[in-house]
Amino acid sequence: MTEPKAISELVRKNILELKPYSSARDDYSGSASVFLDANENPYNGPFNRYPDPQQTLLKQRIAGLKGLAMENIFLGNGSDEGIDILFRVLCEPGRDNVITVDPTYGMYAVCAEINGVERRSVLLNSDFSLEPDAVLAAVDEHTKLIFLCSPNNPTSNSLDHESVLKIIDGVNCMVMVDEAYIDFSQGPGFLSLLQEKPNLVLLQTLSKAWGLAGIRLGMLFAHSDLVGYISRVKYPYNINQLTIDAALRGLDDTARRRLWIKEILEERSNMAIQLESLPFVNEVYPSDANFLLIKVEDPSALYQFLMNKGIIIRDRSSVPLCGGCLRITIGSKEENRALINALKTFQQ
Ligand code: PMP
Repeated sequence: MTEPKAISELVRKNILELKPYSSARDDYSGSASVFLDANENPYNGPFNRYPDPQQTLLKQRIAGLKGLAMENIFLGNGSDEGIDILFRVLCEPGRDNVITVDPTYGMYAVCAEINGVERRSVLLNSDFSLEPDAVLAAVDEHTKLIFLCSPNNPTSNSLDHESVLKIIDGVNCMVMVDEAYIDFSQGPGFLSLLQEKPNLVLLQTLSKAWGLAGIRLGMLFAHSDLVGYISRVKYPYNINQLTIDAALRGLDDTARRRLWIKEILEERSNMAIQLESLPFVNEVYPSDANFLLIKVEDPSALYQFLMNKGIIIRDRSSVPLCGGCLRITIGSKEENRALINALKTFQQ
């Protein structure tokens, strides 16, 4: 087992030395009633006030739900903010590198590009399984971050637990496991390992199982030192009050979320059966997420055909290892029926 570096050794020097922006709201945690510190308008409550820069109430709620301390939680404007901020905290442009295991979620590559950071791409095996030794072989002394995604988008499978652990234990840099789709998965995920693996970063979101993509709330879970550095870099009021309010309401309704997950998983099984029965579908890959990846004879023709009927899916056929593949989100019963009915009229 490789001993991970102290987080301060992985953080960029300018971030270590950064004197972050602070507001008077960061200083007080009592019950003040007169707020004349932030040049707000005294009228038009409650949205006349800046939101809590620490998102304390929301973090408390999430901490309780996930069995974590608040110090282990960073909340972002979607998971995408969590991805981007990891680059900005850890990776020195032009010197450091990250590793992605492809095909995977496209924002890791986009953020690497935007931040001027080298990205080393390691391919999954052709059955979409993870090859930990190939990832370890791509690591060098300038590798700061490895991106894993489980269940993976667009391949829809979960990564093998032992293989992920081998990577976490085999490197001295940070390993991010993106668990955007974890609530649809049979496996337990990696949350229970967070305390014992200081180089593990987890990403979850309210955009999928919680049904709240519109409010943009991503959750990054990590060692408190890393969360501390991230908090220095984030915009002071990165989560707005409307999002905080909607998230608190949404998180209270765990029964509804459970029901949605059950329905989506049932529909996923039905859809897999129906899709498999279509003559032009060559493969429906096993899914641990709320979407199916299918391989068809002519992906562009099918994609275009559906688009002309007002049904939008995702063409993934140009992605490595995904030749012929289309990705289909599991929708409501009605949406799924509309898709299947349209597909039944497709002439090759
Ligand atoms: N991670 C993965 C693997 C995703 O597929 C997506 C969105 N499709 C995201 C993160 C982005 O999530 P958010 O809406 O929280 O930014």
